[in-house]
Amino acid sequence: MVSQTLHLLNNELSGEQKSLVLSGDVMTGLVLVDIVNGFRTVGAGNLAQECPINKFLELIDETVRLAKVFCEKKWPVFAFLDSHHPDIPEHPYPPHCIAGTNESKLVPSLQWLENEPNATIRCKACIDGFLGSIEKDGSNDFVEWVKTNQIKVILVVGICPDICVLDFVCSALSARNYGFLIPLEDVIVYSRGCATFDLPVHVARTIKGATAHPQELMHHIGLYMARGRGAKVVSEVSFDMLLEP
Ligand SMILES: [Zn+2]
Repeated sequence: MVSQTLHLLNNELSGEQKSLVLSGDVMTGLVLVDIVNGFRTVGAGNLAQECPINKFLELIDETVRLAKVFCEKKWPVFAFLDSHHPDIPEHPYPPHCIAGTNESKLVPSLQWLENEPNATIRCKACIDGFLGSIEKDGSNDFVEWVKTNQIKVILVVGICPDICVLDFVCSALSARNYGFLIPLEDVIVYSRGCATFDLPVHVARTIKGATAHPQELMHHIGLYMARGRGAKVVSEVSFDMLLEP
């Protein structure tokens, strides 16, 4: 049943998956969602599960590749870091990504972003980065970033496509539709720049109260839902430097 569903979803998604070529003629911002040790680095905390490693390696390699070009070109980058006060748990998850610890830092191969002038680093204490960008005075760091840089397209990568990436994408799309994100036009999710964790059905059955979360299936469901809300999903991202000024 699961494999049949996965097959259908794969077909459904792959039929729409496209390549994105970035040439710099449309202002595009790169958004990183929670590529932090606490979700990725094995042994770094309660939610840093030992996943089938390939999908996470690809996510990080692809993000580093994109971030390097964006920084070379001085294109805007926005990185969300999941970051929680130790006394404020985030249900239904166990304590994770506690502020000030290594868990809430970018993974080692992306920490150089902290020193890049075109990169905005934003700690967030909730699943949805759009909500997590709201300041006490009601302003929103992400909205300001879009407006200040006159961003027309955001390219989203991160962990996990069915949780934090999906919630952020849905909120960004709603905010765009509601006129809060002018001049944003498109929200694009890069499938190879995303990965989710793995809790197979047979393992979940052995853990009291656990909900199964098969990696491959949930990856596709997350992207499928993002597309249903109006995001574009791409499976390749390249750069056309010939068009550069
Ligand atoms: Zn969290």
